[in-house]
Amino acid sequence: MIQCPMRILFIGISLFLFVKCSFQASGNLSSYESYFPHENPNTIIGKGKIRATFLGTSSILLDDGETQILTDGFFSRPSLWKTAFSKIESDHLLIQSVLEKAKIYRLKGVFVCHSHYDHVMDAPYVAKFTNAKLYGSSSTMNVGIGAGLNQENMELFQLRKPIKLGKFSVTVLESKHTPPFKIFGKTNATDPNFPDITSPLSQPLKATEYIEGGTFDFLIQNGKHKILIKSSTNYVAGAYDRINVDVLFLGIAQLSLQPISFQESYYNETVQKLKPRLVVPIHWDNFFLPLAKPLEPNLKLGDDFDSNMNLLLQRTNKDQIQVQLLQGFESIDLF
Ligand SMILES: [Zn+2]
Repeated sequence: MIQCPMRILFIGISLFLFVKCSFQASGNLSSYESYFPHENPNTIIGKGKIRATFLGTSSILLDDGETQILTDGFFSRPSLWKTAFSKIESDHLLIQSVLEKAKIYRLKGVFVCHSHYDHVMDAPYVAKFTNAKLYGSSSTMNVGIGAGLNQENMELFQLRKPIKLGKFSVTVLESKHTPPFKIFGKTNATDPNFPDITSPLSQPLKATEYIEGGTFDFLIQNGKHKILIKSSTNYVAGAYDRINVDVLFLGIAQLSLQPISFQESYYNETVQKLKPRLVVPIHWDNFFLPLAKPLEPNLKLGDDFDSNMNLLLQRTNKDQIQVQLLQGFESIDLF
């Protein structure tokens, strides 16, 4: 009987510590300061140059001075509380302020990596506000229709068929989503009976209504320059056997939570095959926090940024490949 209050107190303290720990950032960015170039070139983009701007998660703006292309364009970033317990919707004013701040004036295409909310949710509105075209899977097309986008502003992915936008050529490659995980007994795994969004989705929606609908990587060429954008931490074995790139934007979310054999295969099938001179880690930031504030690593609840970076840096150091991290709205000239 005497033990009972002690036991309750012990369980209470353990639970408090677990929750407190889980909701902390899974890394300290000050440890990686030397990997942040903080260049932020504000000059006119010279001929033959390509500027990349990081807009959180796997939202990357590429600009050659004439044409801009963007992946995902997820800017609303509703809070964890809202995402978990209520319906979510795009914040149009916030999207417009991001477009303004990132100087997105010449956007021709928005390419959606997959149709989970943290990739597709804002993409139709970005396309609508900029008059760019939305490119994606059939699931992404249904998100576009639900957002009231015109058919002429949408185009279904055709795998391995290059899309020309100005001097950019974008080839869509079939990929795989990060392996599913469980939090508090709930999984984010795709239900094999419902792998796609099959009818138009109109906001507000529950986050879980955004179904993956296939995952895609983008091989982007501009003149002699080659870039690959890979949002999810997974690979199709052999997919990059005959591809080399100069720059790789590499999804690192949850890498260290996977078995060691997976971690090694992921590096071997991506960085080692593609042989980039520069790797830029992406999808490392806590997307429940606004883009307007300095980005922080994903929460300990579902990730381990320090371990992910350690794994990547160990291998890239050995292979003498440069790694650079970007804060939100930070740009670098890739070429
Ligand atoms: Zn996803």
